Amino acid sequence: MTIAGETSAPVHAAPSAAARPATLAGLGRAGLAETLAEMGVPARERRMRASQLWHWIYHRGAGDFESMTTIGKEMRAALARNFSLERPQVVSEHISSDGTRKWLLRMAPKGAHDKGVEIETVYIPEVDRGTLCVSSQVGCTLACSFCHTGTQRLVRNLEASEIVGQLLVARDSLGDWPAAGAQAAAGTKAAAGEAGPRLISNIVFMGMGEPLYNFDGVKTAVETISDGEGLSLSRRRITVSTSGVVPMIPRAGAEIGTMLAISLHAVRDDLRDELVPLNKRYPIKDLLDACRAYPGLSNARRITFEYVMLKGVNDSDREARELVRLLRGIPAKINLIPFNPWPGTRYECSDWERIEAFSEIVFNAGYASPIRTPRGRDILAACGQLKSETEKLRARARLMLESGIGAEGMFASAD
Ligand code: SAH
Ligand code: SF4
Repeated sequence: MTIAGETSAPVHAAPSAAARPATLAGLGRAGLAETLAEMGVPARERRMRASQLWHWIYHRGAGDFESMTTIGKEMRAALARNFSLERPQVVSEHISSDGTRKWLLRMAPKGAHDKGVEIETVYIPEVDRGTLCVSSQVGCTLACSFCHTGTQRLVRNLEASEIVGQLLVARDSLGDWPAAGAQAAAGTKAAAGEAGPRLISNIVFMGMGEPLYNFDGVKTAVETISDGEGLSLSRRRITVSTSGVVPMIPRAGAEIGTMLAISLHAVRDDLRDELVPLNKRYPIKDLLDACRAYPGLSNARRITFEYVMLKGVNDSDREARELVRLLRGIPAKINLIPFNPWPGTRYECSDWERIEAFSEIVFNAGYASPIRTPRGRDILAACGQLKSETEKLRARARLMLESGIGAEGMFASAD
């Protein structure tokens, strides 16, 4: 494994949960207003204070209260006494030779015995966009048979602020905040207009976890991320990927309102039961019916169907034709994902010619069928390979003992 550029941030001993002031970075509007109320800010001032803070935290990317020059000195000092603007801790940052970056992040401890859970976030720069792949849970309960994350034992939902925190860390690291020149005009409409194109233009919930099992967390995070006075990423540039939690899909359409991606991976229920065990509860027909009813679909607003290419398992011409038949009538894009192997998996990635043949059938039926280009191969930033570092090390050590082979990954760039 070659690492083109690697910066490993020093791992500081995390202060105990009790000693740590609560962070405001990542809070939604309601959370921020509540905090101000707890601080004793009079009700008539709260709205104004909340929008000042909002601007500094989410538009300017402020990392301390001192720099918030539109807020009075006393108020700044009171904020600093009680709160921080701390982000999730960067345990390590890896930069691939192709520009893909992967951060291992440690969340603030939740109690005296919690060291802080770890998750991964990946940035994939492309010619016309930059996509941040965020995690919604630590681990995943769904145990899809081809996915490394599903083998992780420790699972909890990330809080909305921990999801938003991933974007803040990435913007900090990429320097993706408005230029210093705009600071003089901070707080005015002019400042908002000066913000040029951002390095992070799209967000996909395709890291660790099943976003629709953390509905409230994802919903609040999307509200914060898409807020036009702050991070300003439109919902059309945010994609929530689900393995098929059918009952939550209508609610996702109505309440979250982002683009939708479905991890389909098979065209027959018997095979999908094996690959995505959730299929036993919500079979393909129900899943596709929920997709047909997803609000706002059109040719410009299509559902992405993800299909991981597994050698000899789901990659025949017949299955490609069946896929096209199944999706008839749904405005759809099909993303073919070369399988990313991980230690101990029983699957292999389909041969390149097979993937191309499959893609051609789908393409000839009128669907865009991009094969995701491997990204970040040298830093193990792969789709479905994300796993907390401690658990990964255990798995890697086991593999090395068993076979002496190292894990190799690819990241698939999201369309
Ligand atoms: N839990 C959600 C989102 C996270 S997984 C979901 O399943 O949709 C993001 C995508 O990576 C899914 O399409 C998933 O099926 C795919 N994936 C998981 N493991 C993979 C692997 N080893 N190789 C390639 N893609 C994988
Ligand atoms: Fe969970 Fe998605 Fe992995 Fe399945 S593919 S185990 S739903 S993260």
